[in-house]
Amino acid sequence: MKQELFSGAGVVLRLGELYLKGGNRRLFMNALVANAKRALQGRDEVRMHVSEGRVFLTGADDEDICARMRWVFGFSSYSPVRYCEKSIDAICAQAVSLARAYGGSPQTTFRIAARRSDKSFDHTSAQIGILAGNAVNEATGFGVDLESPDLSIGVEVGKEWCFLWTQQLEGARGLPVGTSGRVMLLLSGGIDSPVAGHLLQKRGVELSGVYFHAFPYTSDGAKQKVIDLARVLARRQRSFRLHVVHFAATQEALRDAAGQGYLVLLYRRMMMRIAGELARGQKMAALATGENLGQVASQTLENMAVVEAAAPFPVLRPLLTADKLETISLARTIGTFDISVRPFEDCCTLFVPPHPQTRGRADIAQKMESRVDIEACVADAVRTVEVIDL
Ligand code: ATP
Ligand code: MG
Repeated sequence: MKQELFSGAGVVLRLGELYLKGGNRRLFMNALVANAKRALQGRDEVRMHVSEGRVFLTGADDEDICARMRWVFGFSSYSPVRYCEKSIDAICAQAVSLARAYGGSPQTTFRIAARRSDKSFDHTSAQIGILAGNAVNEATGFGVDLESPDLSIGVEVGKEWCFLWTQQLEGARGLPVGTSGRVMLLLSGGIDSPVAGHLLQKRGVELSGVYFHAFPYTSDGAKQKVIDLARVLARRQRSFRLHVVHFAATQEALRDAAGQGYLVLLYRRMMMRIAGELARGQKMAALATGENLGQVASQTLENMAVVEAAAPFPVLRPLLTADKLETISLARTIGTFDISVRPFEDCCTLFVPPHPQTRGRADIAQKMESRVDIEACVADAVRTVEVIDL
């Protein structure tokens, strides 16, 4: 009997958009389960079961387990639960035990929110609510309030399981990482690009990263910062390959060729070419940046077009229209903010004069680039790239 699987403490995870995914549902479910299992590594006592379109953990329901589930994309919400035998007596006893564990006072109010997906169970949802409600009221003296109670006790009865819960935690939502292809993220040490990466992962994208390092102009501290940011993103996927491109020699060559405030644009165009070449080698179909419309001089519509003209693949910009304060708040939530604000230099300010071009033109950029051996720069960068697998 399967029900033996579902006893004691555990966590029940509810699926989000996955319900919409029709024919691909199996594929999505497999990715979701694999990602959740990976997040549980080291907690071998916890078992996972999929049943009736839900994911069930058994064996533990502690804070560590809940924290591990927080960033598994694809779950809309989850709850620590108590599994119990599929009988009305066991449900009532478990409801009483949860109400007692809550503490409270005689003024405490509660409700029972019962749902039965197994229509053959010998009590309806409404009957479960009444019987369990009476039991809790008798045992604790708590009064019923269906509208806004202090304590809400959920009861769910399925074919193979029965469980109760009092707490609903916010899931990461989105789609399981690995179900939307792979993208090369231009990862700087700033606030925006890691958040952009997070948003892509939320849509199921598996990331690789590329960081342009201007050693010795930018220090190893700057590189370490990017590695630490990449590590945060790496937790949400199987592995994360960070490419560190040694960019100083290319920047020197571009400095000597650029004029009229075009230097940053030439840097960016070169970044696109090199990132594109690395992406091509790994069969990726898109690049991504943390760019945000109008945030700085290099991020006007005109300049984005100049940069994009040099990119061999589409450039995804998940933060294009984001509000800076919202981005900062998300960076804090996902744990990248404190790393991003560590003070280190950025290669894009290197040699850059005070008045950058805000309305660049691709033909002018191209003319300046004709003084540089672009192909050799790209080939050198790819040949000397440092690969760090996280
Ligand atoms: P961020 O906070 O992500 O650095 P930003 O608002 O500071 O963004 P810029 O510094 O102008 O903006 O960079 C725009 C985007 O270009 C970054 O989000 C990142 O994707 C890419 N980028 C800039 N510098 C680098 C770098 N050294 N290595 C890799 N990508 C970079
Ligand atoms: Mg930056």
